[in-house]
Amino acid sequence: MSLGDALRSVGRWFAGGEPEPDPDPNALGTPARAMVVMAHPDDAEFVCGGTVAKWCAEGAEVVYVVVTGGDKGTHDPEMHPEKLAAIREEEQRAACRSLGVKECVFLGHPDGHTIDEEELRGQIVRLIRIHRPDVIVTWDAFRRGFNHRDHRNVGVLTADAVYPLVRDRLYYPRDEEDGLPSHQVNEVLFAGSEDADYTVDVSDHWETRLEAVLCHTSQIGGRTREDFLRMREEMIARQGHARMEERFRRWSIRRSPPPPREAANPQPRS
Ligand SMILES: [Zn+2]
Repeated sequence: MSLGDALRSVGRWFAGGEPEPDPDPNALGTPARAMVVMAHPDDAEFVCGGTVAKWCAEGAEVVYVVVTGGDKGTHDPEMHPEKLAAIREEEQRAACRSLGVKECVFLGHPDGHTIDEEELRGQIVRLIRIHRPDVIVTWDAFRRGFNHRDHRNVGVLTADAVYPLVRDRLYYPRDEEDGLPSHQVNEVLFAGSEDADYTVDVSDHWETRLEAVLCHTSQIGGRTREDFLRMREEMIARQGHARMEERFRRWSIRRSPPPPREAANPQPRS
């Protein structure tokens, strides 16, 4: 019995367990291509690592974009920003390998200093036009409570990139000149949302996610696999079932098909 099966049976034992939710008829399914745009190395593993593991296992091509080097994330008095950024890039690459992520792009902006500005927005637009994802996962910029300025700005930049900039060819026309046509992203999942309305069951991929989290040695404060397994047991006891979930606010952008040409442009009959 796998750990996942064992934990699910434990979940059923707790107070009779919680009934399995009905399948969501509007569930996203596995995207052919997905992009995860995050502020720091390790953000993705903590907020959507199970979802990424699931999509990769089901054949999706997933690309990461990490906007900053995470070069302020330390209390070590001996650490320097350049050294920390290099360490964290390696940790992020290892995490991507364990999840099956196809490619990880580091934009190298300084940690804590992201700005909602033209150049960075254009970098995100171009990467979306290169990789052409069906689904993007990014930070929810509109949390009312505790938030990080890089998370907030990356969420805004990515949402603005998706609509309307990536879609409409006259924004950032250099991309079209370089052979990168405009692109329609159909769905965005905002992570870290206080208004989550979409759940991904990642029970079968939680262990893969844990492997990826453990790659971020500089960020997990010495916690071990056993510590995370114990935290999971405590969570199962609290929630009364063994299902592991990641929750998002979902933004569906699919456009209805354009009307037939005759109806759109009625021609007078002679
Ligand atoms: Zn972060």
